[in-house]
Amino acid sequence: MSITLVSSIFVYNKNYNKDNIIPYTLFLKHLNNGLVKEVYLNDTPKIKIVLDNNNELLTDNPRTEGFKEALLMHGVDVIEKNQIENQILPLLILISLAFTLVYFRKNISKQAEKEMASMSVIENSDYSTQIGFKDVAGNKEAKASLGEIIDYIKNPEIYKEFGVRLPRGVLLYGSPGTGKTLLAKAVAGEANVPFYPVSGSDFVQVYAGLGASRIRDLFKKAKEAGKSVIFIDEIDCIGKKRRNNGISGSEEGDRTLNALLAEMSGFKENEGIVVVAATNRIDVLDEALLRPGRFDRQVEVELPDINARYEILKLHSKNKPLSNEVDLKKLAAETIYFSGAKLENLLNEAAMFAIRVKAKRITNEHINKAYYKVLVGDEKLDRSYITNKDKEITAYHEAGHALIAKLIDKTNRVTKVSIIPSTSGVGGFSLNIPEEKMYKTKKDLYSNIMIALGGRAAEEIVFGKDNITTGASSDLEKATDIALSLVGNLGMDDDFGLINLNVLMSKDIRENKKIVMRTKEILEELYEETIEILIKSRALLDKMSNELIIRETLYENDINRICSSFEAA
Ligand code: ADP
Ligand code: ZN
Repeated sequence: MSITLVSSIFVYNKNYNKDNIIPYTLFLKHLNNGLVKEVYLNDTPKIKIVLDNNNELLTDNPRTEGFKEALLMHGVDVIEKNQIENQILPLLILISLAFTLVYFRKNISKQAEKEMASMSVIENSDYSTQIGFKDVAGNKEAKASLGEIIDYIKNPEIYKEFGVRLPRGVLLYGSPGTGKTLLAKAVAGEANVPFYPVSGSDFVQVYAGLGASRIRDLFKKAKEAGKSVIFIDEIDCIGKKRRNNGISGSEEGDRTLNALLAEMSGFKENEGIVVVAATNRIDVLDEALLRPGRFDRQVEVELPDINARYEILKLHSKNKPLSNEVDLKKLAAETIYFSGAKLENLLNEAAMFAIRVKAKRITNEHINKAYYKVLVGDEKLDRSYITNKDKEITAYHEAGHALIAKLIDKTNRVTKVSIIPSTSGVGGFSLNIPEEKMYKTKKDLYSNIMIALGGRAAEEIVFGKDNITTGASSDLEKATDIALSLVGNLGMDDDFGLINLNVLMSKDIRENKKIVMRTKEILEELYEETIEILIKSRALLDKMSNELIIRETLYENDINRICSSFEAA
């Protein structure tokens, strides 16, 4: 099922919308179950859908002819707007990975099934856990804040005596996999009380009134137990902002939310019951949830910094035989934007590779393989059918990304470039690790655009304008996204000054077209510059591509060696 060449993704680890993307097959299921309220039709690769419970999701745009009619026949509101997806660029971006898609995904339906299965894994069961703060590495601020809550659960009388009103609800918010569930369990464990977990997504597709009664049951159970921790994961599924006009799309969702609010207000003071909720997106929550007496303590759970990553890696490798050559400090440095869950997964996969080849210990080689798997999926084992021409194109494309990164700024680190295709459809990638810092400068953003354009630029120089491939499609998506944010959201363009696109759009003021033109100009200017750099360094580009074709994967020291051999010459 070899599809034409190459579409290439620059995955910037954007933590805000990953979770909102659902497979197209799952979307169809929702559609058939009558759960889809609105679909925004446009020409972007992903389209926005809104479910009856006001959950906003993205799914793949099928771009088929009968799609609109099918939607209409299901009673879905179709909104056709070629609106600019105007997501604000998070200031912390960039693990930039350039992937090249060679094959279509086969496993999509399997994935959909898995996702369906995992949707309701958290059961309404009661158990207290043995998990404590010792099991949570990093997350210092969150632990400090929760320490107080633990003390309150243990000694509510003292707080009562001093007339202190502690929060009844704690909201943990932050990227997926950062340890929110783990922290909630640890609170119960440290306080030595029962833990009652549910997930907001369990309430999404229930019959009328069932959501509310489930909430009441849950609280009843917790109260019967006396002191306890109730945990509501994915609270945004029931606590989404209501529409401006006060009418929510889903009465059922409101009823569940109201039941939750009523239960929380109905607590007696100082009972020793605490409700902990978690969400990846605090910005979509209904303000009613955040008022005093509800989730009035909000604790951010952040992606781990380099030190926290080191701690997490140490913790999760404790029970694994690591070879002496493995340097966890170095690994921590190379895993920027990895969540705790991803780090855990990395070590787990590495251990499985080690077992598979009957090794005694986990070596760097196993970790490298696992790193690849965590980022892009399994390596494709049968690579015999890839033509030499395809290999060459991928090699030049990826070398283009890598070289631009190195040539525009020596401090950029390119840790890995690979043209090994993965079973998930990725044909190759180039991984560069940006400096870990709080803000991105305008110059950084320009550099990132140029790195994203490096793949296409290399193709054009080497194979000619008529032979550029589809491989750059997601690179261009990424580059456009950054350029548009620069102009429209970040006040970084001289022509447009401090104007903000969101405000313009909300007031329906038509500067949009000009902004699009300016975005296009910026991309063209930077593309020209990228091309020039690569033409000047053509010999270096050839060298790197050739080594890639021979060795398939180049690591940081290879890349630095190749670059410096040319500097010396
Ligand atoms: P979230 O609820 O934020 O999505 P989880 O708490 O479910 O994340 O984390 C999933 C797994 O990732 C945990 O069970 C644990 O193995 C690992 N993990 C995440 N964060 C940490 C951390 N700070 N310390 C140790 N392990 C972590
Ligand atoms: Zn690319």
